[in-house]
Amino acid sequence: MKTVREVLAAGETSYSFEFFPPKTDKGEARLWDAIRRIEALAPAFVSVTYGAGGSSRDRTVAVTKQIAAHTTLRPVAHLTAVGHSVAELRHIIGQYADVGIRDVLALRGDPPGDPKGPWLAHPQGLTYAVELVELIRDLGDFSVGVAAFPERHPRSPDWDSDIRHFADKCRAGADYAITQMFFDVEHYFRLCDRAAAAGCDTPIIPEIMPATDYRQISRFAELSDATFPEALAGRLYAARNDPGESHRIGVDHAIAMAERLLDAGAPGLHYITLNRSPATVEIHRGVQESRRAHAVSALR
Ligand code: FAD
Repeated sequence: MKTVREVLAAGETSYSFEFFPPKTDKGEARLWDAIRRIEALAPAFVSVTYGAGGSSRDRTVAVTKQIAAHTTLRPVAHLTAVGHSVAELRHIIGQYADVGIRDVLALRGDPPGDPKGPWLAHPQGLTYAVELVELIRDLGDFSVGVAAFPERHPRSPDWDSDIRHFADKCRAGADYAITQMFFDVEHYFRLCDRAAAAGCDTPIIPEIMPATDYRQISRFAELSDATFPEALAGRLYAARNDPGESHRIGVDHAIAMAERLLDAGAPGLHYITLNRSPATVEIHRGVQESRRAHAVSALR
């Protein structure tokens, strides 16, 4: 199986799906149901977010290793610097390498508790994601991804510093980036233009969050500082008590975004699943159908 770096270098479109570590047995059963459905789609990779602390982190490592051992999927392991000494980070990376995992998404992470609170580095740890990229690179031939922010990282004082630090991660050896969620493709295009102007040609994979539930998306948009376009918010609000209509609005919006992103040359799509497969599977199938139709009409 190819690493994400190899998939992108081969010019293949990288479709991927993101899960989070489950908290309960019921949650674990739902996660595995979603994983098995998504396995049938043969994505380039799947990833599991890294928990904020303790048992949730152990579950991330356990699920990621299980995916590597018991499925045909390529797992990308998220890893954050929060609360870890360098020795602990080396140990976790070693655990992944032991089971053949070669793909890591290197992140700084947010403070546990209040994600918008002050960020405190572990006394023997790292301060920025760029240092984690360097550490992973030093430890072996890993394919390394990093985070990118279409509307700027909320802690960045301005675009110049944001892009400068993003370009530093790429120069340190990041093979690709995955974006934060966004709901207006123009944000992604501007990010790519800014990165290119800073001399950074690292592929940036856009993240697709299905906006199928008004309350949930409002909360996520607030947490991630993503702008929730008024027209989309208005349509979802009007349909807030009609799950079928909300689902349709979210799926259609995501397919329309995905088509524009791929038409403009995005190297792939990274779908947030929230450990439930139906919306992302529907979006993925819709995108595949439209790509096929596109390819056929281009041949005529
Ligand atoms: P960094 O690249 O370190 O940037 C953080 C801030 O510091 C930015 O403002 C940057 O401009 C600034 N900065 C960087 N270097 C310097 C420097 N040398 N001097 C001064 N300022 C600097 N969080 C989790 O806890 N678990 C996950 O699994 C997870 N998965 C994610 C997946 C994706 C695709 C994305 C986009 C985010 C994810 N996050 C996750 C959230 C992420 O950890 C936070 O958004 C975090 O605040 C930023 O991480 P980063 O890796 O971009 O940090």
